[in-house]
Amino acid sequence: MRGAVIHAPGDVRFEELDDPKIIHPTDAIIRTAVTCVCGTDLWPYRGAEPVDQPHPMGHEYVGIVEEVGSEVTSVKPGQFVIGSFATSDNTCANCRAGYQSNCVRREFMSTCQADHVRIPNAQGTLVATDEHPAEQFWPSLLALSDVMGTGWWAAKAAEVKPGSTAVVVGDGAVGLCGVIAAKELGAERIIVMSRHESRQKLALEFGATDIVTERGEEGIARVKDLTGGVGADSVLECVGTPEAMQQSLRSTRPGGNVGFVGVPHDVAIDGQELFFSHVGLRGGPAPVRGYLPDLIQRVFEGRINPGKVFDLTLPLEQVAEGYKAMDERRAIKTLLKP
Ligand SMILES: [Zn+2]
Repeated sequence: MRGAVIHAPGDVRFEELDDPKIIHPTDAIIRTAVTCVCGTDLWPYRGAEPVDQPHPMGHEYVGIVEEVGSEVTSVKPGQFVIGSFATSDNTCANCRAGYQSNCVRREFMSTCQADHVRIPNAQGTLVATDEHPAEQFWPSLLALSDVMGTGWWAAKAAEVKPGSTAVVVGDGAVGLCGVIAAKELGAERIIVMSRHESRQKLALEFGATDIVTERGEEGIARVKDLTGGVGADSVLECVGTPEAMQQSLRSTRPGGNVGFVGVPHDVAIDGQELFFSHVGLRGGPAPVRGYLPDLIQRVFEGRINPGKVFDLTLPLEQVAEGYKAMDERRAIKTLLKP
């Protein structure tokens, strides 16, 4: 098979790789329908995470089951499936508590920018659709495997409720999906921090009511202006930088909540400031698996269309260009077709 391999920052290549095989009886092999490049893939691409040796890339996928291990009974060859970027047995105590992305058997997916993928913990991880979905649904279903599931978790972790005010920090694919989630969960006012016209447009289409272009102290002041001087009920932190976290914590009203889903890089939180702010803080890798059945239904019903975050579609063999376009912010998110 063929897939993407990162060799060094800025150096992603499309290469011939060994075909994936069933290693454990709990594995499945899928033929990739579509896959994509994630904002988090840009951390090693930009050198913000080390690349010690060449390794495959990609953690988002939808596909058709080709083979299952002897212990996998929930899906069968020929079915169209969606799974999370973090695999889970969906039966352990952490899974049952709703934290499938912290399953005791968790393995993070990391080889999905390829035409075939081995899925560990397939029984608990994969959700099959009733029928083969029309191709028009594939981008939105693919978005569920990470960015839409993560946006949903951000809104849940920030405790977005009907009638509430939400702020979304970050206008990448996750932030934009966070807007969809906040809207679906009933937020009345959705303020998006964004400086990019095309992303602002999509945010408004997804349900944003206000756009804030200011950053830092000015951005915080602007949010306070829009929220009666106290800050928002819920803030979705979808970036992972110190600036974004500070923006989020200081844009939240006392008693409000921050859901942080941007993978933190050099983020440190001041304990005293957090203590006196009365702001609640919860985040981490999204328990996408728990949300999949509900989100799949919302996609098929046409309630949500997170596939719109893909504004560049390329053949899988041009994966390197997909990274480059996102790195240079020419694209929000790249869809890859094997
Ligand atoms: Zn588990």
